Amino acid sequence: MTNELWVIAEDSAALATLCGAGRALGLPVRAVVLGDVEDAGAYGAQEVLRFATPVSGLVEDTAPDVAALLEERQARLVAASTSPTGTLVAGRVAARLGVPLAAAVESVEVGETLTVRRQVLGGMAVRTEQLAGSAAVVTIGAGTFDPAPRGEAAEVAVETVAAATDSGIRLVDTQVQQVESVNLAVAPRVVSVGRGFAAQEDLALAEALAAAIGAELACSRPVAEGSGWMAKERYVGVTGAKLKPDLYIAVGISGQVQHTSGVDGAKVIVAINKDKDAPIFADADFGLVADLYEALPLLTAQL
Ligand SMILES: Cc1cc2nc3c(=O)[nH]c(=O)nc-3n(C[C@H](O)[C@H](O)[C@H](O)COP(=O)(O)OP(=O)(O)OC[C@H]3O[C@@H](n4cnc5c(N)ncnc54)[C@H](O)[C@@H]3O)c2cc1C
Repeated sequence: MTNELWVIAEDSAALATLCGAGRALGLPVRAVVLGDVEDAGAYGAQEVLRFATPVSGLVEDTAPDVAALLEERQARLVAASTSPTGTLVAGRVAARLGVPLAAAVESVEVGETLTVRRQVLGGMAVRTEQLAGSAAVVTIGAGTFDPAPRGEAAEVAVETVAAATDSGIRLVDTQVQQVESVNLAVAPRVVSVGRGFAAQEDLALAEALAAAIGAELACSRPVAEGSGWMAKERYVGVTGAKLKPDLYIAVGISGQVQHTSGVDGAKVIVAINKDKDAPIFADADFGLVADLYEALPLLTAQL
């Protein structure tokens, strides 16, 4: 078994994330792509093997064939994304290979054994786990590592591999859910709103600040999942998006660890909160103890 990272990706965003993980871990990457992944050869993998979408129409049904290929190639460390498809494939491949599966890891140490670190207890703690045996499958979330840039390395040819297994399932219908398309993980500046905003229309204050500095808008979980003022794709934290922006401005956010663990990679955190004892100030590089309704218009006007 060799020390390289085999990645399984169902789209180019997952491929960029997983190839970025390989770079960060200092491991050469070999990729298995499922279905039609745009520019699959352009993210720095040394080899790209493609499984066409199987007759079932579900790319995750390639898992038995992917597992057989990885076994033949003596893959030691395999990574998929934490997306629903990535998680499904990772679980099936790990079961077929008879190796442990570690979900949503933040780091992997490759020695005689594999050791992973991941958040537990809703982000309250980080656990280090040594995995039994010498091979494993892990899943890695977007934003955990910087994504590999497209086209920086020389492009490799994509080789198509025939899938032999028929799961017997047929895709009958697909209804596209209307979700907001936002990729916070690559935004250099983010203005994030919390329950300090009293009404949905007041978010216009944060939108104006974001527009003034060219930032994306994000939020705490209650703003997305509780009040439904913003799309779920925009909430940050242990169960939401994990970001590493250059600038993160938290407005009316208390700063519970479940939120701040999503931005602990931010270069600069600015907090605006009217409570001087709010925990967010412990994580902030710059803090403004102020009522957001007074501070935001003044701040935006200065920019
Ligand atoms: C298992 C688990 C997972 C979780 N995952 C996440 C997650 O991924 N992301 C996440 O965000 N949360 C998550 N949570 C919820 C988290 O614990 C907090 O409840 C949540 O982050 C609080 O959101 P908030 O800061 O917007 O609201 P609050 O905690 O209510 O804070 C509002 C803040 O606004 C300030 N404020 C009020 N009015 C004003 C004003 N006029 N001007 C300025 N400041 C004002 C207040 O002083 C307060 O600090 C999770 C919880 C659990 C149990």
